[in-house]
Amino acid sequence: MMISSTRASYETKTRARRELTRALAAGRLVRPDACQDCSARPSKALHGHHEDYSKALEVVWLCSRCHGVRHRASTVRPESASASGSTIQFPRALWVKVGVLAARTGQSKRNVVIDAIRQYLDRERAA
Ligand SMILES: [Zn+2]
Ligand SMILES: [Zn+2]
Repeated sequence: MMISSTRASYETKTRARRELTRALAAGRLVRPDACQDCSARPSKALHGHHEDYSKALEVVWLCSRCHGVRHRASTVRPESASASGSTIQFPRALWVKVGVLAARTGQSKRNVVIDAIRQYLDRERAA
């Protein structure tokens, strides 16, 4: 079992960024000056990070360091769980949640996913 996150299409990302830029220019959205992850106030403008590119105006404002961390967190690939060769694709937003859960419980992302699948299957069997 290989686990990886899906990436939004180039067009979806471009559209989201364009819409965000327009909203900022029109004053419909205000860019804060403190990073929402580490509270730093960098001299450079914060990056608007999209968890979900289909929601163009829902962004997390991050300094470049935290922004890099977020992206690395969603692209880490756990080792294969079996030799079955099947691949499970995760929507990016869900993959970020797996990362948060893994960090909170001190487990690997791979184990978080395996646990969730196991619990789901147990419930299916019980139903
Ligand atoms: Zn930060
Ligand atoms: Zn980002």
